[in-house]
Amino acid sequence: MKIVRFVPPGKDSALFGIIKKNTVTAIVASPFEGMIVETSEAYDLDAVRLLAPCRPSKVVAVGLNYKDHAEELGMALPEEPLIFLKPPSSVIGPGEPIVCPPVSQQVEYEAELAVVMGKRAKDVIAEDALDYVLGYTCLNDVTARDLQKKDVQFTRSKSFDTFCPIGPCIETRLDPADAQVRSYLNGDLRQDSNTSQLVHPVDQLVEFISSIMTLEPGDVIATGTPFGVGQIVPGDEIVVEVEGVGQLKNPVSE
Ligand code: MG
Repeated sequence: MKIVRFVPPGKDSALFGIIKKNTVTAIVASPFEGMIVETSEAYDLDAVRLLAPCRPSKVVAVGLNYKDHAEELGMALPEEPLIFLKPPSSVIGPGEPIVCPPVSQQVEYEAELAVVMGKRAKDVIAEDALDYVLGYTCLNDVTARDLQKKDVQFTRSKSFDTFCPIGPCIETRLDPADAQVRSYLNGDLRQDSNTSQLVHPVDQLVEFISSIMTLEPGDVIATGTPFGVGQIVPGDEIVVEVEGVGQLKNPVSE
């Protein structure tokens, strides 16, 4: 099932819905409040404006979770997951522009599989972890690489407004241990890997993170990016693709 958050044509407020072929059927309330119940309201997929498919209270991102990406940055692989936060204010949806801040000369894309939590999770063991997950989506962990190298903490480099595109949908049926993750810059393939290469897989990440902080429904875990990160500049279009989920496309602007 593919779940979206969208604004119907001619309206201002957002609804949750389910994609069926080329239509979106609105659902009652949200997918984070128990059973998913369809309404009789349906729209052409082309006519609606898709938003980020959830509104996380936090985005927990994992650094250096693919061996080849740690190598390209010249950094040692951490023994435990290296986590940092991206603020909810950095989240944007499909099609919204990533804005390059003047203070950085090196804004880069990072294609990632994102986990969307479906239930509150605290001290969950890996064996049970996937029961707490609603589904999976694409995420671009946009990074001001020059500031990341300059600062000890990742906060500034990862947190600018628009630095966390998420979408286009939450796919509830996906094997997080075998998902192809790609990025395309202006149509050219730049990253192409599989979550089977993750140093710390999704179930272990849920166990590790939920041992530290309570994960709320709608919270997001960005699982790390593979080899092939690179710069984006105003005028570019960057696409993050997770096979089985779809493509998250964003223009880049000043
Ligand atoms: Mg990342």
